[in-house]
Parts: sequence; structure tokens; C-alpha cells
Amino acid sequence: MGKGGDTRIHAGKIWLNGELVPQEEAKVSVLAHALHYGTSVFEGIRAYATDEGPAIFRLEEHVERLFHSAKILRLEIPYTPEQIASAIVETVRTNGWKSCYIRPLAWFGATSLGVNPLPNNPADVMIATWEWGAYLGEEAVRKGAKLVTSSWRRFPGDVMPGKAKAGGNYVNSALAKMDALAAGADEALLLDKEGYVAEGSGENLFFVKNGVIHAIEHSVNLPGITRDSVIEIAEDLGFTVKEAYRVTREILFTADEVFMTGTAAEVTPVSMIDHRPIGTGSAGEITMQLRKVYLEAVTGQRSEYRKWLTFVK
Ligand SMILES: *Cc1c(COP(=O)(O)O)cnc(C)c1O
Repeated sequence: MGKGGDTRIHAGKIWLNGELVPQEEAKVSVLAHALHYGTSVFEGIRAYATDEGPAIFRLEEHVERLFHSAKILRLEIPYTPEQIASAIVETVRTNGWKSCYIRPLAWFGATSLGVNPLPNNPADVMIATWEWGAYLGEEAVRKGAKLVTSSWRRFPGDVMPGKAKAGGNYVNSALAKMDALAAGADEALLLDKEGYVAEGSGENLFFVKNGVIHAIEHSVNLPGITRDSVIEIAEDLGFTVKEAYRVTREILFTADEVFMTGTAAEVTPVSMIDHRPIGTGSAGEITMQLRKVYLEAVTGQRSEYRKWLTFVK
């Protein structure tokens, strides 16, 4: 992972174009189209430790979204979704992780560096796995994360394909995230061009008001699989869940609770937005109830959600 610090990823064996190779041998050309122009698509998946070994959470949905992202970019993945899914299982199994983060990536490789990437089809594909804890840190989970509104707006769908989990889109996310951390916050709140709330740099947003859970929906947002799971869990727990459109910052400032969802962030409470405490200024009760059930679901402790798990035996 770049230079300096102790941020190197230990990914063990990486699946690269059909073969499992040691991390040091999983190399990519410096002339890859994706490296120059951001023409890649990826997924973020987690496998959790369960009483029956590691289980991959919602594998099928993640693989499906990877193929949708590739389709949007006209990137041909030279494998079937079933082949990618079994390659993911194989990579987790080979490395022997009890739990891990899983990063599949497909990209336009190094055939041509003209702006048109199509000569570089079909895609190169890799799957890396590594052990990874709470994305926003244990403290953010316990006390709630601090958000600041980013000066970088979330791009509309006619500028960049926000429904694709694409490398290039993450220039926007990385700019927002760097500024948020420099401002002493944990995460960025991104608004659209008109000032309505979109999402975090890599998380979807929810708020709770008078006991009702509102899932923020916006045409520019990535359709989160964690978001979808949390909505189902909340409804099963008997909560009313509504999709909220055109949400302004004031609605969040005056909400009882705000939380973020994402494969990396899981369910993370938000305790402060733009220096204003949300609700009591600590992790919300409903948020923590949803977080608890979500973590039970992903670790196989809830029979009704075992349908979401692919066990790596
Ligand atoms: C991946 C991602 C999310 C969260 O999606 P999950 O499927 O829950 O991991 C939210 N927003 C953006 C921009 C993302 O890239």
C-alpha cells in the first residue's frame, strides 16, 4: 500500500486471472489503462468467523453488482459470475483466514493507452483477501463517528456512473475523505449539486426520527448491500422503515439518531455532524440494536439470515 507507515496489506495468496499466486507475484503493468484513467470496477465483501468456519456475507449479490459495474463500463469479465464466486471462496479457503475483507477488482489492462479502453478488453481480474477490523476504528463504533460536510459534491449520474463501484469514482471519495480527516472528523458527508444529502465517501446513510427509520435514497448513491440487509433486519424487528428522498442537512442535525452502513463500516453510529451533536451526542439506541442484530446475522447466530451466508468449508 504505497510508501511509509505500517500500512502494508498482508494478502497472502491473491487470485490473479485464474491462478492463486503469492502477493509479491501478483503484479500489474504500469501501463494498465485503469492505472492511468481509473477504468476499473471492484467489490468490497466480508467473510466472518462463524461456528462452522468463515462465512462470506451475501456473496451472490456482491458478484452480481461487480458484473453490473463492469457492464456500465463496457468491461468484459472473461469469467461467469459462478466462476468468480467460486474463485472468491477458493481464495478465502487457501489463505486460511477465520475472517477477512475480500476485494475483487476487474480492470482495463495494458494494451493501449488511448482514451478508448475497449482494445484492452477482456478485463484483468484479481481477488485479494486480508484481515481487517472496524473500518472507522473501535472508538467511532463505541462513541459514534464525527462527520463533516465535504466541499466536494457527489457527482450526478450524467457526469460519473455512481451506480457502478468504479475506481475512478473513488477520486471523489478519496478527496472528500482526506479533507474530512484533516478537519478532525472520521468521515465525510457528501451532498449533491443542489445540497441534498447523498452518502458518505463509501457508506450509505440512515436517520431515525420518532422511532421511524429513514433510509436515505438518492439517484447518485451506490446501492448498498449492507443498506439492503439493515432495512430487512429493521422490518423484521418491527420497525417502520421509509426511504427518504431530498434530505437536507437540517433534517440530519435534528434527527434522533444517524448511522452509516457499508461492508467496511458495517453499522456505525454518527454522533456529530458539522459540530452539532446528533440526538444525545452518543451512539443511538436503535442504531446499536440494528448493529447488534446485523453482527449476529453476519456471524451466523441468526438462523433467519443464514440464507445470506456462503460457508467456506
Ligand atoms: C461500496 C459503497 C457503499 C456501501 O455499499 P455496501 O454494499 O453496503 O458495501 C456505499 N457508497 C459507496 C460510494 C460505495 O462505494
